[in-house]
Amino acid sequence: MLARIVNALPFGLSQQITKLYFQALVRNQREAHSFEEYHEYNNMDVRILPALQDNYMYLIVDKATKEAAVVDPVEPSTVLKAVKDNGLTLTTVLTTHHHWDHAGGNEDLVKLHPGLQVYGGDERIGALTKKVEHNTKFNLGHLNVQCLFTPCHTSGHICYFVTAPEEGNESAVFTGDTLFLGGCGRFFEGTAEQMYKALITILSSLPDQTKVFCGHEYTLQNLKFARHVEPKNEDIQKKILWSEERRQEGKPTVPSTIAEEKLYNPFMRVTTSPVMQHAKKSDAIETMKAIRSEKDNFKA
Ligand SMILES: [Zn+2]
Repeated sequence: MLARIVNALPFGLSQQITKLYFQALVRNQREAHSFEEYHEYNNMDVRILPALQDNYMYLIVDKATKEAAVVDPVEPSTVLKAVKDNGLTLTTVLTTHHHWDHAGGNEDLVKLHPGLQVYGGDERIGALTKKVEHNTKFNLGHLNVQCLFTPCHTSGHICYFVTAPEEGNESAVFTGDTLFLGGCGRFFEGTAEQMYKALITILSSLPDQTKVFCGHEYTLQNLKFARHVEPKNEDIQKKILWSEERRQEGKPTVPSTIAEEKLYNPFMRVTTSPVMQHAKKSDAIETMKAIRSEKDNFKA
């Protein structure tokens, strides 16, 4: 896309743009894997903060009060800069699970910004102040936060479902390493049955338009596996093309929606016949187990 535009320009100008483009790419690689992005909805805003090699942190903002929560703040300095630059009041940390690339910044963040409530579902999470369970509910300004217990990747994994005060309004779910765009997390501390419950019973029953913000930029690798599972699924092909464009421009592929994930994510589709046929299983949990173990050894 960019190459086509650049080629149409006079040579000197195209040289300059190409140089700036590559300088930006190098700078981008050294500092962040993606550009920051800001999604505005009616009652809540979500600021995507790239971290480490391919992690995402998120600032969730209640627009009415400017109160903010941060999801998995592994790089506290990046978080605090965004809080300051945007005049937000940070009160809350939502930790999806104890792995270092998600929870590893909690202790430093509470030192730099005392008084934060740190939520999570696992005693191994640093600086934890509120241990939550399935359906634990609390508020962030006027927004409602509901904890969804989704053990499997780790035994204490929590997804956070955030909704606006009026029903039927916008909603978002922060899925950590349970649900990725086009994929799911590895089963480090759980079973296929648990991932089935997390993806099919719990997350699939959220409203279709719910935005999905996950813990890593793994979308393209995941979709290449999805294409291997379902070569005839056109939604997968379309999402691959779209994701390739986004990544060429250094843009995040998050968020998707629950409805979209049901169209192309093989782990959200283990009850469908094409995915079951690929796995050569007649049971959805057996299908989940089979495609996860195939994905563990898949080279895109
Ligand atoms: Zn993890």
